[in-house]
Amino acid sequence: MQKSATEQLLKRAEVMCQRRGVRMTPTRREVFAILTEQEGAVGAYDLLDLLKAEVPNAKPPTIYRALEFLQSQGFVHKVSSSNSYVLCSHFEKQHPVQMLICTHCGNVQEIHSSGVHQAFVEQAEKEGFTVQQQTVEALGICSNCQHSQ
Ligand SMILES: [Zn+2]
Ligand SMILES: [Zn+2]
Repeated sequence: MQKSATEQLLKRAEVMCQRRGVRMTPTRREVFAILTEQEGAVGAYDLLDLLKAEVPNAKPPTIYRALEFLQSQGFVHKVSSSNSYVLCSHFEKQHPVQMLICTHCGNVQEIHSSGVHQAFVEQAEKEGFTVQQQTVEALGICSNCQHSQ
């Protein structure tokens, strides 16, 4: 992502934080900025290494606390199947998340199909289950990787 795009996204996130009365601390801001610069999802320890360039005394709890915050604000999605994190660029509203994860290059593409979401919720309701949060992860090969093979 280009610098200006990173700045814009950060500004949007900061506006959200102000509105919600939560604090975007320098460390949280830094982790957010690092994530905007990554192509796909990134593991916590890789993030920690990158963070150390800016915050030399950063420790694992530093990164986990920052990620927890960013996740709770919807700025970041966790990719459970690879235990990594990816930035969300549509964080202004709550949305169903379906992630297309390339097993070849690690790229993660987010799609929001309300049809998929609705079908899922309805099936769950039939089981008497109330869905609070839904993330669907699909593993496969992205179009870039298919074309470069
Ligand atoms: Zn998202
Ligand atoms: Zn790929």
